[in-house]
Amino acid sequence: MTHGMIARTPGGPEVLVWSGLPDRAPGPGEALVRHTAIGVNFIDIYYRSGLYPWPETPLVPGAEAAGVIEALGPGVTDLSPGQAVAYVIPTGAYRQTRVVPADRLVPLPAGISGETAAAAMLKGLTAQYLVTACYKVAPGDTILVHAAAGGVGLILGQWLRALGATAIGTAGGPDKVALARAHGYAHVIDYTVGEFAPQVMEVTGGRGCDAVFDSVGASTWRGSLSVLRRRGSFVNFGQSSGMIAGFALSDLAKGSLIAMRPVLFDYIAERSELLERAADLFARIGAGQVVLDTVARVPLREVAGLHADMEARRTVGAAVLTT
Ligand code: NDP
Repeated sequence: MTHGMIARTPGGPEVLVWSGLPDRAPGPGEALVRHTAIGVNFIDIYYRSGLYPWPETPLVPGAEAAGVIEALGPGVTDLSPGQAVAYVIPTGAYRQTRVVPADRLVPLPAGISGETAAAAMLKGLTAQYLVTACYKVAPGDTILVHAAAGGVGLILGQWLRALGATAIGTAGGPDKVALARAHGYAHVIDYTVGEFAPQVMEVTGGRGCDAVFDSVGASTWRGSLSVLRRRGSFVNFGQSSGMIAGFALSDLAKGSLIAMRPVLFDYIAERSELLERAADLFARIGAGQVVLDTVARVPLREVAGLHADMEARRTVGAAVLTT
């Protein structure tokens, strides 16, 4: 029997418990994958806490993992047993083995380890679609990113630098500020001391930013809108500090702003798009433009402590669970 971490009711990190889980052979179009590393993301907390509705009860959280194909169901012709793969699916990854729809599996190129893939798939594909599809970043752009020392944040800073943009970050505390600075951000503001908006305007010489990638939500959105240049883009892709409340379409009238609330899964729904975006991500990693040098390793059984640390803003960069 395979094992994993499940939650029977929504709640705090303590609802996560180790449990035996049913095994089955892969059916048509499916693959059985033995996980070697599982990524941990803030979305896992949204599901565990009940902020996002559960697809099934009990819930197995976990949105990204890497592993090795153990068996293939009928009709899967483009993958083979023994192949190293990774995937992004909203829930279900906190377990040792798993049957996965084969069309969600991305073969890992040589040089990309399972640990790197598990740390980078969801967070890196997010950075990829944000800078290519939500606001197409061009050389010379100035972009603000909140939670710059977080999992997505450290990848975004490096990616923006590689694209020739000036990345401004916000982060909570001096250690996080220093880490973000070392990962592509030209300027980093500690937004736990004072307002970030006046500092952003000062750094940009009063012009404002071309786009803001805001995953913090409740505590940042108003400031984010205020630091955009005329016709700038507000891209809200998360709510680590809580859901945005009180937003009105008329808030965009000052400067004819653009606002959007994108979700990764809508940008990788087609297999061809998933493979294209993953190829871009792995190429950036392969070229050394995006380096994952702060990945923390935690045993799958101890993931509850990691959730508590993430919610208390004690983590930096990405973490992977070992099986
Ligand atoms: P992070 O590692 O970035 O962790 C969240 C960070 O948010 C914290 O470390 C903290 O950094 C900051 N934060 C600010 N206020 C709070 C608060 N009140 N409570 C907790 N954290 C706070 O997480 P991930 O890299 O996993 O994800 C980043 C964000 O991106 C999440 O909101 C996630 O949901 C979103 N996301 C969205 C996707 C999409 O397609 N829409 C896909 C992937 C991720 P600091 O201390 O520096 O403020």
